[in-house]
Amino acid sequence: MPQSAPAIESITPTATTERTFTSNDRCDACGAQAYVAATFLASELLFCGHHYRKHQNAIEEQAAYVLDRTDTIAAK
Ligand SMILES: [Zn+2]
Repeated sequence: MPQSAPAIESITPTATTERTFTSNDRCDACGAQAYVAATFLASELLFCGHHYRKHQNAIEEQAAYVLDRTDTIAAK
């Protein structure tokens, strides 16, 4: 008897460019709220504006993709 396989819903990847940072997103260096996400081959690191600038050269050299939302820091 053939079994009807349950339909596998296609997983829609989060649109990275639509991402907004919340207070749950924390800088991996200091724990401040993150505004930058640097995607590497196997992982993602989050940075606050301070640590993004501090490591910017290395990040841009090694990351596959960098989402920089530091322009939203002062959006209050
Ligand atoms: Zn930081």
